[in-house]
Amino acid sequence: MLTFRTRVQRFSDLLLELESLNDKQREAVERIDGPLLVLAGAGSGKTRTLTYRIANILEQGRVSPHGVLAITFTRKAAWEMRRRLGELVGKQAEDITATTFHSLGFKLLSAEAGALGYKPDKLVVYDAVEAQRLLFRAMQEMNVNGTRWALETVAPITKVTSVIERAKDNLYSPEDFVRVKGDFFEESIAKVYRRYQQLLMENNAVDYGDLIRLAVQLLRQNPSTLEFYQNLFRYVSVDEFQDTSFAQYQLVRHLVWRNRNLCCVGSPVQAIYSWRGADIHNILDRFREDFNDAPMVVLSHNYRSTSTILDAAQAVVSDLPYHDAERLQSDNGEGAAVVIVPLNTDYDEANFIASEIKRFDDERFCGPEDCAVLFRTRTQGRLLEQVFMHLGLSYTLVGDFKFFERREVKDILAYLRLVHDMLDAGALQRIINRPPRGLGTAAIQKLQRGEPELNFDSISGLHRRDDLPPKVKEAAMAFADLLFDDLAMAVKEKPLPEFVDYVLEQTGYRAWVQKDPDAKRRLANLRLLRAMTTRYENTVTATNANLGDAREEALGTFLTDIATMSVVEGGDPDVGLPTEAKGVTMATIHAVKGLEFPVVFLAGLEEGIFPHAKAMKTAEGMEEETRLAYVAMTRAMSLLYLTYARSRVVGDEVKEHAPSRFLAAIPKHLIERRTATRESVLPMVVEETPLAIPIDEVQHAESG
Ligand code: ATP
Ligand code: MG
Repeated sequence: MLTFRTRVQRFSDLLLELESLNDKQREAVERIDGPLLVLAGAGSGKTRTLTYRIANILEQGRVSPHGVLAITFTRKAAWEMRRRLGELVGKQAEDITATTFHSLGFKLLSAEAGALGYKPDKLVVYDAVEAQRLLFRAMQEMNVNGTRWALETVAPITKVTSVIERAKDNLYSPEDFVRVKGDFFEESIAKVYRRYQQLLMENNAVDYGDLIRLAVQLLRQNPSTLEFYQNLFRYVSVDEFQDTSFAQYQLVRHLVWRNRNLCCVGSPVQAIYSWRGADIHNILDRFREDFNDAPMVVLSHNYRSTSTILDAAQAVVSDLPYHDAERLQSDNGEGAAVVIVPLNTDYDEANFIASEIKRFDDERFCGPEDCAVLFRTRTQGRLLEQVFMHLGLSYTLVGDFKFFERREVKDILAYLRLVHDMLDAGALQRIINRPPRGLGTAAIQKLQRGEPELNFDSISGLHRRDDLPPKVKEAAMAFADLLFDDLAMAVKEKPLPEFVDYVLEQTGYRAWVQKDPDAKRRLANLRLLRAMTTRYENTVTATNANLGDAREEALGTFLTDIATMSVVEGGDPDVGLPTEAKGVTMATIHAVKGLEFPVVFLAGLEEGIFPHAKAMKTAEGMEEETRLAYVAMTRAMSLLYLTYARSRVVGDEVKEHAPSRFLAAIPKHLIERRTATRESVLPMVVEETPLAIPIDEVQHAESG
């Protein structure tokens, strides 16, 4: 059987042959001086053309690799670009600056931000969470705290965060922010924005938005610095141009203004980041206004997908305005039909996907690393993670912290571990003072009594300990009582999910998290953790022996499942350079822009999920969802699965959704509808939720 592996291999062999470019691609590769715009749909070889073009620039001896700047959207894409360049130009690739906008901004600022009053060599970049904490402080200091009616619409921190982020994407400083003088909303936000910037400066820190905004400011205010970088970067290329912000475009524009060697490559029909400040006008008109002599090359051939997959994706976007210009043809052959699979529940869906990937592997059709599971919202990944973990299927979650590595999840798991095993010193060390209960570092040292680390002995037999200051003794005893009496008893008496609630209440953890600027997300994660225990609780009622013992055992199984997953998965994929993906790629659609996989499972094709309920409210929102569907489907090379669940847990509720309108947009002859049999949906824990409905009914609902 011809496996996907041979197919992928064939593509990368061709990568080294320049003749393998088509005429249009070659035209772009050969026009190396002056501005150039390449427009084309998905999988048409834009990124490949861009890479070859850079190789050609070096080949022609126009500039040394140090003078080449290539900007991509994600670190993963930048890494991929460096790899591809390495294949084409060898060691020279190491001296090319292939990077994301944000790391470019960081490089500029960490060399030059002295001019803006920062200590450049010690510049710190705050991530979203740290930035929000600081913003929260600024809001409090400025009395914009969300409790007053007049500010209710302005003040929730998420709103203020996004308003300031958008201001930065559009290069507004706090001073430029107020457009309507005396306007209460704008004046209030401007006050917060100004204070927030002061606080950042005091910490010698910048947030993500500043990485671009301040870099532009720097170049604008310092002609000699600008000249230096203009001389350094002689040839600049931008991939995924449709998703650049105004600020990012201005950064590039400043850099190339002197020698005008700028090649931008993009696909308006794949613009999916407007919600994060991307501005489609860069590709639709700004570039052409600024470089009105720039030739435009349009590619029209798709090399990635089978014609079936490509046509299905194009059918979904056929009503969008600029789609016609990007219509593509594929002659990779027809290939297999797009498989649509209705499932009863989100659990069944996750199980179906996992079992299908296992089957491919068992039958040596393709390996897990050839498969990607894509979804619209991050939360959908949690359940998939849980099921994959349960089945021992390795995966890499792109662009997100793994659920079980989140702070709040780890904390509550540590409590559960301690209740399960009092001797678990690691768990004890983690939560002894989370939430703070007067057992800080000094107190812990006293409790340890010279032992190298805190352990069970440190918090047992406390009433006999005269060496402890009364306050420490009191706090430690209260903590020990909580663990060894209160929680130890409750674990036998309460169903697991209720026990998780109980832990959250009794430890004060929930109340503590509620004060966190990131409370909403953290609480949502904790609700999910709670929901996960339901499946294990169900095994308890099934056995029904000694209920208390059975419950403890179920908790044990739950914890073992999670612990073994962490061992398999190792560290955090988000830290450091992305490594080769291991196992199945799991990601939101937004995170896999520009990438391709032999097999793609697109999950959760339901009205309200994808298209997302929020986006469905506006025409622009719906357009972006439609483009997102196109991006998702065109990641697939050979096989595309579209799955949906009749009922799904959303937040705390089980919700029923109709099949997504995107399914209906695909011509019938391109589709194969498949019913997931019970056997193909691996039973994770044998259970039948009251809401589960027979598969036949799903079929019925779907055709109706
Ligand atoms: P996207 O819009 O998703 O970013 P893209 O237009 O950048 O896609 P690439 O990723 O560059 O497309 O190319 C898609 C696939 O097609 C890659 O595997 C690439 O190697 C292959 N490819 C591109 N051009 C050719 C060609 N002329 N001959 C053979 N294969 C090609
Ligand atoms: Mg690309």
